[in-house]
Parts: sequence; C-alpha cells; structure tokens
Amino acid sequence: MNLAEVSVDVLTGVGESRKKELEGLGIESIADLLSYFPYRYEDYRLTDLITAENEQRVTVRGRVYTQPSVRWYGKSKSRMHIKLDINGVFVSVIWFNQAFLKDKIRSGQTILISGKWDRQRLQITADRTMISEEEQKKLIGQLEPIYSVVSGVKMSWLRKLIHQAFVEYGKYIQENLPAELLSRYKLLPRAKAMYFIHFPKGPAENHQARRRIAYEELFLYQCKLMWLRRIQRTKIEGIAHSFPSEKVEQFIQGLAFPLTGAQKRVVQEILDDMRQPIQMNRLVQGDVGSGKTVVAAIALFANYLSGYQGALMVPTEILADQHTASLQQLLAPFHIRVTSLTSKMAVRKRREALSEIELGLAHIVVGTHALIQEPVVYRNLGLVITDEQHRFGVKQRAALREKGISPDVLFMTATPIPRTLAISAFGEMDVSTIDEMPAGRKPIDTYWVKKEMWSRIIRFIEKECQKGHQAYVICPLIEESEKLDLQNAQEVFEQLTVELAPIRVGLLHGRMNSAEKEEVMNAFAVNDIQVLISTTVVEVGVNVPNATCMVIYDADRFGLAQLHQLRGRVGRGEGASTCILVADPKSEAGIERMRVMTETTDGFEISQRDLELRGPGDFLGVKQSGLPDFKVADISEDGKILEVARNDAAQIVLSEDFVTQEDYRSLYEWLQTEKLESMNFD
Ligand code: ADP
Ligand code: MG
Repeated sequence: MNLAEVSVDVLTGVGESRKKELEGLGIESIADLLSYFPYRYEDYRLTDLITAENEQRVTVRGRVYTQPSVRWYGKSKSRMHIKLDINGVFVSVIWFNQAFLKDKIRSGQTILISGKWDRQRLQITADRTMISEEEQKKLIGQLEPIYSVVSGVKMSWLRKLIHQAFVEYGKYIQENLPAELLSRYKLLPRAKAMYFIHFPKGPAENHQARRRIAYEELFLYQCKLMWLRRIQRTKIEGIAHSFPSEKVEQFIQGLAFPLTGAQKRVVQEILDDMRQPIQMNRLVQGDVGSGKTVVAAIALFANYLSGYQGALMVPTEILADQHTASLQQLLAPFHIRVTSLTSKMAVRKRREALSEIELGLAHIVVGTHALIQEPVVYRNLGLVITDEQHRFGVKQRAALREKGISPDVLFMTATPIPRTLAISAFGEMDVSTIDEMPAGRKPIDTYWVKKEMWSRIIRFIEKECQKGHQAYVICPLIEESEKLDLQNAQEVFEQLTVELAPIRVGLLHGRMNSAEKEEVMNAFAVNDIQVLISTTVVEVGVNVPNATCMVIYDADRFGLAQLHQLRGRVGRGEGASTCILVADPKSEAGIERMRVMTETTDGFEISQRDLELRGPGDFLGVKQSGLPDFKVADISEDGKILEVARNDAAQIVLSEDFVTQEDYRSLYEWLQTEKLESMNFD
C-alpha cells in the first residue's frame, strides 16, 4: 500500500471540514500525516526542584497541603493559590484565570503540575494541571509532541489522529534504506523511527529516531545528486581536450610567481577533467585573493592549445575589463587574442567583437551575460568559465546546448560555501578548493569603530596615502537618504576631496555608465586616484594590489559575505593592510557581524558563522539554493551525518552494481520516480 495515495479521510473522524483543515497544514495523505513531525516536545519528566534554575519549566508531583484560595480581579481575572508538599518540601503553586479548578482540587490529593519555577519565592506558576491518577501516569516521564497548528485544528485532536494513523497504517510504512546501512549504523527501522519522533518514551529514543530520519533525509538527497552525476557522466558527451602537458607546464613556469600547492592541485584536477570525453562540471572555490584568476588562465590556455575558443563570464563590466586586461597580459606573448564583449559596448565595437568571435579570430572572450545571449555565434567553444557568480545553471547550459555545443564548464566562486552546504547544494558538481593563500600575504588588521571616530579615520587614510598607498571608502548609497541616516557616497566624496587635499579622491557608483566607471577604475589602478569613494560596485574581484586601506561606512548594513568580499579588495600586495568597519549597529545581529569580522579573516570560517546566523535557506537565497526542506535534518548542525551520508550515497549510487543489486532495488526505483532537473542550482 502506498500511503502517499491514501487520503486522510479514511480515518474515522475526518470528514469534509476536518479534511479541509488538515489541508491547511499541508496534510492530504496518510503519508503526509505520519510525517507531520512535532517541532518540539513538552517535557513531563519530573523535575528535581533543588537543581532547577529560576524561570525554568518544571513538572512536579506533590500532595495538596492547603485548600485552594481564589482572589478575583474584576469578573474574569483570578489568581488561585495552594501550598504543595513535594516530598516534604513546601512550595506555592499559583494559577491565573483557572478558578474552575478550585472545586476539583482537594487537600490530600496528589496532583501533577507543570509550569514556570520562581526560585526566590519557591513558587510555581502552573499552566498544566493533572488531577486524575490515570492521566498522570500516562504523562509522567513523557515528551509530549507539540505540533504547529492553525486555528481550527486542535492539537490534542491532531495528536490522537496521528496516533490512530500509526495504529491502522503503521504497518505499511516501508523501509527505504538498504539493509546494509541500517545494520552498519544501527539505525532504527523507518516505521519505528517515525513513531518515536511523534511519541518518544524518552529523550534517548527521540534522539535515536531523529538520527535515523536525519540520516535518511540527507542520504536520499545525496543519492539524487549522485544519480544526477551518474547520468551526466554517462550521457553528456563533452570535448576530450588534447594538449601537450609540457606547453602548459612552460606557461606555468613563465608566470611571475610559483603556484601555491593548492593552485597546482586544482589546476591538475581541471586539466584531468578537460581531457575526459565528458562534460566538465566543476566548482572551484577559493577565498578572496587565493589566486583563482591565474587558474582560469591556465585552463583557458590548455583549451586554446586544444584548438578551442574559451569564454570567461563575469558579473560586472568592471570585472570584465579587469580580467580582459590581465588575461591579455598573460596570454599575449603566445599570440592568443583576448576579446571583450559586454552588453553596454558601443554598437560598432560590439559588432566587431561579434564577428571576431564568429570567425574564430577571438581565442578567448571575456564578458558579462552577453556572452551566452542570442546573437553570439561561437566558432568552436570548448570551455566556459564563470567567475564570482552562481547563476550559471541548467538554463544557461541549455542555452549553450541550443547553440549546438557542450563545452566544459568551470565555476569559480570566492564566496566560500561551508562544506556541508557545498555538498548539499552543489552535490552534483565536482568541487575543487583552493585552501591556501599565496606566500607572503599579510593578514588584514580589522577594526570596528564608532562613527564619532570619523575624523580620526580621515587622518589615518591621509597617512596611508602619504606612504604611497591607496584606500577605498565604501558607502552604502549614492544619494542622500534621510530616512536611513546613511552616509552617502556623493557626500563623502565631497567632504574628503576638501579634507584630504591635495590627495586625489575619486568617486565610483552604479549609476555611472560603463565608460565613466572604466575611466575611474583605470585611474585608481594606476594611482591617479589615491582614495576611491565607492558604493559596493567594487565588491567582487577587483584587484588593485597597492590599495592597503579599506574603510566601510555603515558596515552593519552589509551581510558577512559582502563584508568579507569588500575587505578582500585589500591585502593583495606587499604592504600590510587595514580594514576599518565604521558602524553603530542597532541590532544584535549587526553587532555579531562586526564581531565575526574582527575575529577572523578566514572566508570559510566566516561563511560557516554566516550560515549559523542566517540558516541555509537564507544563506543561498531559498529559491536559488535548490535545497529541499528537510523535516529533521539541519544542514548547519548535522554536518557529520551529512558527510557520512554523502560518502555512502556516492559509494552506492556510483557503484557498478547499483542498478542490479537487490538491496538497492527500492532506492533505484525511487530515483526513477523523482524529478531531478528541478533540484539543480539555477
Ligand atoms: P581571487 O582568487 O580573489 O580571484 P586573484 O586571482 O585576483 O584572486 O589573485 C589575487 C592576487 O594574487 C593577484 O594579484 C595575483 O596576481 C596574485 N597571485 C595569484 N596567485 C599567486 C601566487 N601563487 N603567488 C603570488 N601571488 C599570486
Ligand atoms: Mg577573482
């Protein structure tokens, strides 16, 4: 029997109107009902008052020592009081507005109450009272499930209904994990685990049940990702790049610096992928400044040697310009032509670029989203790299496929994604991590200061400039905004131009057209502008190694990932760098972010903290994340289970005999029924 196909109205007591109410909770089938898990439990284990803390919820059982006395306040408000004898300890118990209990409670009776403990007064404010012996027995020691309900549905009714569903249909709950895994991890059978999530006899059972269901959720999700990977490996034919390794090696030797160990490893992983006749689908993550650009350049070089065009896609025009320039510098000696293409180019230049691409004169194209849009015709595209953006998913790949090509695809991101999240969200991709910084990098000293320090900060910027260094000052907005009381870029620009003279100050913001932006960035790059006032348009990727000072105004307005990105604009050269966060945060979260920033410069740690502060959905943006809504598993807490589940899923789903082995049969069949495309990162 497939419980997902049995409607809840088979249960006694569920008629039309109840059915509607349950629908409001998302419960339509028996399967929905059985997996409508409680979000917490009321704890009815007896509390030892000696060790109980003030304000803690307690459950106690004792003998009523005094008859209840009730005081009324007006017609409806009342306060009732008794003394309760708990094994010789006398405490007061009070009830608000429950005077109806007065005639039920007799002195000498043993009652069970739970409520809030006031340690000073030796007093419990009761919110639950059990008088009947029988009911007490049922409840004592229990964890009572608390469900989220909407008006109409009564919790006690729902509880009974779920119980009834287990009695009648529990036997049809099917195991969905291979027996091998159940015994390896001593996991509870599925039906039992589900039952214990609703009705645990105690915390140990509940823990076992949660462990089992969390593992199941994470394992099944990873199985989907692995299955997707398996399909891609076998089905999506790609280009088998062929290039002489010595030439690539020579290119690497010719660089201005030796590669870090991590860069070498990642380059190797990429080149290995490229040689395979299947489409590469790899994510390279490395902290800001870890040197991803050069890794991209090496891959593009190998792609060129194999006789293909390459494309590098970036999120902003500024980045497009910068990457074009640095690739030109690296690749020009090999007569490799790097062309840039953005949607804001002048018509004539753009037309020129398009025909260069079509004719194959352009070996490498750098640009924004324009790269994969309509009019672009590639001669023979062999490799697409996207830098600093996640938005190159199924749709974009499909767009390329419509152009008749399946190039290898490499994603590069400087927003380090905590490993647990990376393998959940990007699980069907291969992931390479550059986890090492180039030698000689000095850590960026980070300070958090109040706005009243502003004039001292200006003097600090002045000193940096006098040493020949440059500075960024980031402001959240361009124009005046009275409502938010934010320092705006325009105003700061005017102020600093005066106060820092003769130091040359420039302004950059998102409303400038691309020629203006380019002009300002170029001036900053060659130190014609010494202090750049900017909005967050410099956030990702921009590389001006002589800049050693980053001032972020109203820093608490930014998220952790963004702050880390902004800070990453300095600390790129020889000089020691400083980051100053100017903020008077009003919220706890804002204070916490400032704290994290001053405590660490490790992007992976920051993103882990960010994940904990925000939760996984918000972290990636729920829609984008493609993450399912796990009922029990928690990505930020169940990291260990996730790792294990992932390895198991890989081993099983990628194994030769996955399709044929009996123990995997139901898993295999389940995968055939699941929609896989929709879960991809897009
Ligand atoms: P990101 O990973 O943030 O994109 P970039 O590729 O912009 O970082 O590199 C940051 C800076 O580090 C650049 O100036 C680059 O030339 C330099 N760089 C990259 N790799 C190395 C290395 N192995 N040794 C020294 N400097 C390096
Ligand atoms: Mg970069």
